[in-house]
Amino acid sequence: MYLYKKILAAYDGSELSQKALRHAVEMTKQNKESELIVVSAVNPTGPMTHPSIYEQIAQSLTEQAQELIEDVKQTLDSLSNNTSTFVIMGNPAQKIVEFADSNKVDLIVMGSRGLGGIRELFLGSVSHNVLQQAHCPVLIIK
Ligand code: ATP
Ligand code: MG
Repeated sequence: MYLYKKILAAYDGSELSQKALRHAVEMTKQNKESELIVVSAVNPTGPMTHPSIYEQIAQSLTEQAQELIEDVKQTLDSLSNNTSTFVIMGNPAQKIVEFADSNKVDLIVMGSRGLGGIRELFLGSVSHNVLQQAHCPVLIIK
C-alpha cells in the first residue's frame, strides 16, 4: 500500500466531512511521520455580494469557520502526528486544490456530499471540482 505522508482533509462541518476527517485521522495514525492538515474554505463572494458588505461577510464567515475548526483541533490534539488547521478564503474547490499544490499534499480526503441540500446528486460541486482539478489522489468518502 502507498504511504501518504501529507494528508489534507477538507472540512465543512457536514456529516460526511466529519466521516472523511475520521478516515483521514485513522490513515494518518498508521505512520508517525504522516502529517494531517485540515482546511475549511469560506467564500464571501456570492451573486448577491455587494462590494460594500464584502469585508463584513468575509469576517463573519471566517469567524464561523474558525469556530467550526475549533472542534476539529480537539480531535487532532489526541494524535502524536504533526497536525494543523487552516481557514482559507475564496472558491472552495479552487482554493483546496491550490492549497494542496502549494503544500505538496499527497492525498486529499473529503466527503461525497456536504452542507448543500440536493439529495439526488451523488457528488457535490466541491468534491466534483476538486476531483477534476487536483494533481494528487483524492479519496471521496460516502
Ligand atoms: P453543493 O455545495 O454543490 O451544493 P454539497 O454541499 O452537498 O453540494 P460539497 O460542497 O461538494 O457537497 O461537499 C463535499 C465535500 O467537500 C464535503 O464533505 C467536504 O469534505 C468538502 N467541502 C465542501 N465545502 C467545503 C468548504 N467550504 N471547505 C472545505 N471543504 C469543503
Ligand atoms: Mg457544499
